[in-house]
Amino acid sequence: MKLKTCRFIEHGIYFKQLAEDSLTVKHCCNMDALPENEQPHLIETYKGGEIDWEKLFEEKRKDREKFARGEYYDSCKNCWELQEIEADKEDYISHVTLAHITKCNSRCVYCGIGKDETLHNSPQKYRLLPLLKEMKEKNLLRFTGSLRYMGGEPTLLHDFEEITDMFVENNIPEIYLPTSGIKLSKAMLRACAKVPICNIFISVDSGCEETYKKIKGLNAYKAVMNSLKQYADANIMREHVISKFIAVLDINDNTEELDKWIAESKKAGVVMLAFDIEYSYANNVENEKYMKHLINLKNYADKQITLAGLNRDPYLPYIQKLQCFEQENKEKLENDTSSEIINIDISRQTKQQIEEQLLNIIKEKSIWNKPIINLTTEKFNKKILFFNVKYEKEITEEKQFDEILSLCRKLGFKTKLKTNANNFNKSIKESLKLSDIELLVNRKGNFAKQYFELDNKKVRFF
Ligand code: SF4
Repeated sequence: MKLKTCRFIEHGIYFKQLAEDSLTVKHCCNMDALPENEQPHLIETYKGGEIDWEKLFEEKRKDREKFARGEYYDSCKNCWELQEIEADKEDYISHVTLAHITKCNSRCVYCGIGKDETLHNSPQKYRLLPLLKEMKEKNLLRFTGSLRYMGGEPTLLHDFEEITDMFVENNIPEIYLPTSGIKLSKAMLRACAKVPICNIFISVDSGCEETYKKIKGLNAYKAVMNSLKQYADANIMREHVISKFIAVLDINDNTEELDKWIAESKKAGVVMLAFDIEYSYANNVENEKYMKHLINLKNYADKQITLAGLNRDPYLPYIQKLQCFEQENKEKLENDTSSEIINIDISRQTKQQIEEQLLNIIKEKSIWNKPIINLTTEKFNKKILFFNVKYEKEITEEKQFDEILSLCRKLGFKTKLKTNANNFNKSIKESLKLSDIELLVNRKGNFAKQYFELDNKKVRFF
């Protein structure tokens, strides 16, 4: 019988590490982003040993009946897993989600686990392989659904290889593994060759060793790229191996890093890329001031991924939030800049003062309808024969120029400036590629043509 329900509610189980020495067992999914009180818990603190299966299925039956009546948890109402599916009334588990360690082999700047020593090094107190074997023997486990890992880093589980092999040998049709890729799993290589949907998300977040280290806290870029290549080559569906990039403010949120990530992923044989944004951007109203920059970055990534002949995975949760924001504010985004011009002489103020001024503009007005920021620098007098001529210092020679222009870009301001273009400035290049800028260029400047070619609509000559 077809019902609008969720496969995890119907036949799922989820083991999640709760504290140092206990697991929580849920009879649903791994949507940890949902409020804890909205997640149905089956066993609050599982400390190993027997599971009362009758109690478990009694709880599942209650939820299944609720869903059959169209009564969903608030957090489920907009979930993409809520679908018309074939539902039965039998008691068995076919979707297993394992997140029973938080131990990890990297320390991503955007992840809470890396900042908490107890979680980062948490020992694995319970092995779930015996329990899964028992479920199989009792005919409670059917291999018709999916095996999903969460973490921590799942490949660090003591029984990761055995559990994966057990599901693969029993012909599970779907596996999902989010991984750092630092440790290459032989069992997952075997799974790639056999499982029809073997989704492996590798968190790369960079296009070179240096940025990788800044984001992850260790040198493992080469190992990760090797895993990406090996999984992609082994997978019966190459597009199921996904190279992931999470944009983090001031570390990798630039076009150069995105270009390198796309090129390196392609070189590794990957055809599916996933661009996402760091959690706090999507969930923090305070950070809405960066939204325009993130939308520009997302659109740039989309364009470059397509130009490289690759595909973008559209289903990451925070990018979806960003897309909703973009849709809801379409008109405001199109008319974001007013005709008002605010002049800022960058030779007379510190970067902090300018930042404060820009943030105040946003605070007092809004993140929308912002004035154009005209960046200028000091003028000086020069005596030529009998005349005093007023000269403007070359703005790109100001020490803090790059940082200030970057700030304008990230806060979504349209910026105006004048340059002699005798030196090539990377921050100008970034603004031409990514944001709104009006660039007045000396036509005789060495790099005038290069700027013009980057975006001829944003460059004017004098
Ligand atoms: S949040 Fe989604 S996946 Fe989780 S139980 Fe609800 S409908 Fe299912």
